[in-house]
Amino acid sequence: MTLRISIVGAGITGATIARALADAGFSCEVYDQRDHVAGNCHTTFDEKANCFKHEYGPHIFHTNNSRVLNFTKRFCSFLPYKHEVKSLFSDKIFSLPINLHTINQYFGQCFNPIEAKAFIETLGKKNINPEDSFEAFVLHNLGEDLYQAFFKNYTTKQWGVSPDQIPASVIKRLPIRYNYDSNYFHHTTQGLPELGYTDMVEKMLNDPLIVCELGKKISFSDVYEKSDLVFWSGPIEEVFQYDEGALPYRTLDFTDTYLDGDAQGCPVMNFADADVSATRRTQHNYFRSTNDTKPIEMSLVTDEFSRQWEHGDVQYYPVHLNSSNDVLESYQRRAATLSKLHLCGRLGRFRYIDMDVAIADALQLSDRVIQEVL
Ligand code: UDP
Repeated sequence: MTLRISIVGAGITGATIARALADAGFSCEVYDQRDHVAGNCHTTFDEKANCFKHEYGPHIFHTNNSRVLNFTKRFCSFLPYKHEVKSLFSDKIFSLPINLHTINQYFGQCFNPIEAKAFIETLGKKNINPEDSFEAFVLHNLGEDLYQAFFKNYTTKQWGVSPDQIPASVIKRLPIRYNYDSNYFHHTTQGLPELGYTDMVEKMLNDPLIVCELGKKISFSDVYEKSDLVFWSGPIEEVFQYDEGALPYRTLDFTDTYLDGDAQGCPVMNFADADVSATRRTQHNYFRSTNDTKPIEMSLVTDEFSRQWEHGDVQYYPVHLNSSNDVLESYQRRAATLSKLHLCGRLGRFRYIDMDVAIADALQLSDRVIQEVL
């Protein structure tokens, strides 16, 4: 018997599952309500600025996972890339993530790594349990001054709640360094698909066993009824028509501007002041090989503003609040009783994850399901 397999969402999760299933000989149908694949990684080529534009905010591929890397490399060549982020605070530009340069700049010192480490040790509030929250983690490790300058305002703007309400896992994404390494990520591999993420995901889905329907919103009940297996990477609440309410998300608004010449000098500038409403500015021209030194004639910059998600907005960041855990757990319990359903991805599992984790999870889930049905 041929299994009827449906995958909802043609983002990085849905496309990975579709391709893993196709590789194992299963056919599937992939649906996406948007008219493009790649979900929030979607890239377009901007002729005026002569660069790829990350339509839903900056997405950098970085990983330590060789399986993920080998899988992804089948569908694109990666440009060598090192992500650089600066932070504008109180009319000064600082290096991020927090490194020796940031510490020396901020405190007006010339510390070497050993001195800087010893100094920061004296600032850290060691009586605070770093696992308690985002705020606790930063205060424990870096102390009050750096917390106030680089984390408190940015995180409050980004998440809409005080950092003492945010889990420590959110800040553990970023390294703290006692040298001048300004690489934003600590993974062994980092890169950008040469032809953009959308091309990469289109190639993942380009298999005779995969049928893709874009620009069509399919309801959970319709897809569940007609399928033997459903992989759902949409919001978990949509499975139940939001009958216990929506979970909290942040959505983003973007404002694009073209500017003559090289407007910013780096891919991302974070705005750490409370009175600047944008969280960050992305200069898309820098999404190119780090070896590419061609002068930039026309900049395309995008200011990013974070706000509470409402129905009709794009869901970007799942917000983990104690107050919404019960609802999430209830949806998850109910989903577990639907034997044909596999929740997946950032929205299906309500997790704040990077692209490589999304691919790793999707490959693992595919392995498990393939084992079960073979
Ligand atoms: N963050 C911060 N200040 C910064 C950059 C990041 O407080 O200048 C916090 C913020 O809460 C953010 C988290 O660290 O959500 C993770 O940062 P990352 O750059 O990974 O966020 P993303 O690019 O996923 O939005």
